[in-house]
Amino acid sequence: MFNPQTLKKDFPIFTHRPDLVYLDSAATALKPQMVIDAEQEYLEQHSTNIARGLYPLAEQTTEKFEKARETVARFIGAQSPQEIVFTSGTTASINLVAQLLEHGILPGQNIVVTEMEHHSNFLPWKELAARKNIEFRIAPIDADERIDLAALAKLVDRETAIVAFSAVSNVLGTINPVQEITAQVKQKNSQALVLVDAAQAIAHIPIDVTEWDADFIAFSAHKAFGPTGVGVLYGKQALLETLSPVTFGGGMVLDACAPTTLYQAIPTRFEAGTPNIGGVIALGAALDYISATSLADIRLHELSLIEYAVQKLQETFRDTIRIIGPQSIQERSGIIAFTLANIHPHDIAHLLGEQNICVRAGEHCTAPLHRALGLSATTRISFSIYNTEQDVDRLVDELKKIVLLLK
Ligand code: PMP
Repeated sequence: MFNPQTLKKDFPIFTHRPDLVYLDSAATALKPQMVIDAEQEYLEQHSTNIARGLYPLAEQTTEKFEKARETVARFIGAQSPQEIVFTSGTTASINLVAQLLEHGILPGQNIVVTEMEHHSNFLPWKELAARKNIEFRIAPIDADERIDLAALAKLVDRETAIVAFSAVSNVLGTINPVQEITAQVKQKNSQALVLVDAAQAIAHIPIDVTEWDADFIAFSAHKAFGPTGVGVLYGKQALLETLSPVTFGGGMVLDACAPTTLYQAIPTRFEAGTPNIGGVIALGAALDYISATSLADIRLHELSLIEYAVQKLQETFRDTIRIIGPQSIQERSGIIAFTLANIHPHDIAHLLGEQNICVRAGEHCTAPLHRALGLSATTRISFSIYNTEQDVDRLVDELKKIVLLLK
C-alpha cells in the first residue's frame, strides 16, 4: 500500500532534517537508502574498473554495470540493453546526439524544437543549426500552455532533420502527448529523427519507448532518485548502429592500429573512457526502487497532491496568484510554477528557505518559455513520493506570512 509517510523513512535526509519540506524534486530528487547503499557497496567492496580487468573482482563489477544497463532497458521498454548508452546526464545525452548527427545534416535542412524546452534541449540544437547554417524552428505553446500541435505540424516538412521536445515540461508541468507528436512528425517526414527529453518524466510517468517510437530519449539518474553525474541516452538499435563515435579513447576501440580504426559495437562505441561506475550501479538500484514502489501509484499520489495544492493555492490567494500550465490536472505532472502578488520569486524562495521549505525560483533554464509567458521569473514547487498534504499546508501557511510581510 502506497504511503508517503512510510516511504519517507526510506530517505535518510529526513532523519537528519525532520523539519525539511522538500518541494524541489524537479531540480533533483532525494536519494533513498537503497541507492546510497548500492553506490557505497561498489566503492567499499568492488571499487574496480569495468571491461578491462580479467580478475574476478573486475568481472563482478562489469557484471553489475551491465546488469544496470539491463534494468534501464527494461524500465523504459527498450528492445535491448544495447540501446542504452550511459552518459553524465540529460544535458550530455542531448549534446551527444547533436554531435552524432552533425555529420549527416545537409544544407537546406532544418531543426524543430518547442518553446517550452529546457536550455539543455534548446541550445544544443540552436548551436548545431548555427554551425550547419540551417534553419532553427521553434514551435509555440498554445493558450493553455501546451505545445501547439497544429503549429508544430506546420513547422515539420520534408527538410526537417530533427524534432526535439520534452515529455514533461520542467516549468509548466505539462505532460506532452509524446506518441501522438512522434506519429505526427513521422507522418509528415518519415526520415525526421525525434528526440524526447524525458528528464522530468522518468520518475513520474510510465515510459514505453516502443510505444513512443522516438528515435532518441535522454534522462538523468538524479531526477529519478539516483546519483548526479549519470545519465542515459536511449537510441533505436538500427539507428545507433549507423552512427560513428564522436568521443575517442579507451574502451571503445577494437583495433586502434588498423588504417581505418575499428570500433566496438554499440553502445560501448559511444562510451569512451572510464564511466561513473558506482553511479550507474546506483541508477539501477534507483529504478528498482521506483519499480518496487510502482510508477502507477507514484503518478496517482502526485496527481492528488497537485489537485490539493492547486485548489488550496487558488482558494487562499485568489486573483493574486497566477498558476501557469494546463488547467486540466490530468495533463500535469507534479510541478506547479506560479507568480504571487507581485512579489519577486527570489524573495519567496529565500523566505521559504529560512523555514526549511525548499522551492525553486527564477527562469528554471527556460528563458524562451518565460519570454513567451511574459514573465521574468516564477516560483516552482515540485512533488515526489515523499511529499504529503502537510507539506502543502506548511507551504501555504508560510506563503500567507510572506504576502503579509511583502505585499
Ligand atoms: N531537461 C529538463 C526538462 C530538465 O528539467 C533538466 C534539469 N532541470 C534537464 C533537461 C537537464 O538535466 P541535467 O542537468 O541533469 O543534465
